[in-house]
Amino acid sequence: MDWFMKRSLQNGDRIAVQDGESGQGWTYAEMDVRASRIALFLRQQGVSLGDRVGLFAPNDVAYVDLLFACRKIGAIFVPFNWRLSVAELNGIITDCTPTCIFVHPALEETVSLLSLHGGTRVGLQDEAYQLALAEGESLADPVECHMSHAWMMIYTGGTTGKPKGVILSYESVLWNAVNTVISWNLTADEITPTYLPMFHTGGLNALSLPVLIAGGTVVIAKSFDAESVVKLLNQERCTIALMVPTMYHMLINSEAFEQSSFPTMHTFISGGAPCPQAVYEAFAHKKIAFKEGYGATESGPNNFVIDPKDSLRKSGSVGRPMMFTEVKLMRGLVEITEPHEVGEVVLYGKHLFQQYWKQPEATQEVLKNGWFYTGDLGKRDEEGFYYIVGRKKDMIITGGENVYPQEVEKLIESHPYVREAAVIGVPDTKWGEVIAAVVVLQPLGELTAEELKAYCSCRIAKYKIPKRFRFISELPKTAVGKCDKKALVALFLPQ
Ligand code: ATP
Repeated sequence: MDWFMKRSLQNGDRIAVQDGESGQGWTYAEMDVRASRIALFLRQQGVSLGDRVGLFAPNDVAYVDLLFACRKIGAIFVPFNWRLSVAELNGIITDCTPTCIFVHPALEETVSLLSLHGGTRVGLQDEAYQLALAEGESLADPVECHMSHAWMMIYTGGTTGKPKGVILSYESVLWNAVNTVISWNLTADEITPTYLPMFHTGGLNALSLPVLIAGGTVVIAKSFDAESVVKLLNQERCTIALMVPTMYHMLINSEAFEQSSFPTMHTFISGGAPCPQAVYEAFAHKKIAFKEGYGATESGPNNFVIDPKDSLRKSGSVGRPMMFTEVKLMRGLVEITEPHEVGEVVLYGKHLFQQYWKQPEATQEVLKNGWFYTGDLGKRDEEGFYYIVGRKKDMIITGGENVYPQEVEKLIESHPYVREAAVIGVPDTKWGEVIAAVVVLQPLGELTAEELKAYCSCRIAKYKIPKRFRFISELPKTAVGKCDKKALVALFLPQ
């Protein structure tokens, strides 16, 4: 029996998914019927076990519909990051060759530029699909899928290179959800908005699916601006929300934030990238629980838990491992046991991904004896709290010294005139790499490179202080709101 069916038996007419714009809601029982009808529709389009079903859509109930319909016929759900370029999207479609591709009306034009490799295109507003959804027959013989069967393929954020298709089985998705429900104490009373894109693990697996498994409500949020966030959270009586630091930045600097006390919210979570101290402080000031999460598409994504009361005491920590996650820190083949020593974060648990789609070598590089080598660097303190210090690939080696950009970024961002900073290594004949900082100032802030250097010099070691600075109006961001450091290096290269 499907989760939705079980939940509908337990939760009666509780709303599972609600459209944040129109207010329309669907109960667990209704969602189950929708998924069964779409499953039959998919079969009629020739989709069978192991076939890929793609979706191009802004956040929409269609994500949940298609995900659960795929489960009923053993197909693999592939949501696409529609913000990528035509060339990148064509690359991804060629990679996963979907049998059927669903398209939201807002993205018809984007998709018309793509080559679909013979995949059938279905508009979410097409009459045949709408009819199937409204009054079609339900699939009579859902496929009994093994737990190791692939359920979804989510492409990584592409922050460090080409996005990779991450295969997640039923087992991975379920364990991540159950691990999250138990470790984060989620209940059927949760109501969460989805501000992160649902084509990314942050919008789908990090909180939306755990909340559904807990029996709560997912409110599909469509537009992001501080005022509408505050309005939606209050109006829908939301209890918990996950956003990326860029979103929190916009939120805490708004009048709407100043004026709201978020009476129904028990926790705000930041994830996907390091969160500036100013955000912690803004929530502490309001006495609202705020914590940082860490994860990757390949790891569920959730792995750590921190009690909000520890968040301030252990500022910058992502917490301790969740109930069913094992964590170790490795330097080469040696496991680090000493506190405060930096090593690669390596994870183990049933929530991990199975493999990268069609990339056995890339899979072997990061999955060793069942452990996932994240490519991120971290350290642990005496009490077992973990801190992410940055990506291995981003670590700068200048004059033989290792520098973790995140430490320098956090320091620069602690200057009251600075809004955001990114620190990168630029190739240099003398030093190997020199440290460069790209800085965005607060609207009325005025600051020179010399003043920023002086600010850094009494706070960190000399070799960590950036030698080169650029002031720009906005940092380039990837589709999921992370700083696109690849684009920044060009600022320092000779024209
Ligand atoms: P790609 O793997 O294609 O380069 P990506 O790494 O952005 O893209 P995602 O799975 O979207 O792929 O993001 C996971 C990464 O995000 C982690 O490996 C880590 O580097 C970063 N990250 C996530 N949460 C945090 C956090 N709280 N602090 C610092 N970094 C974080």
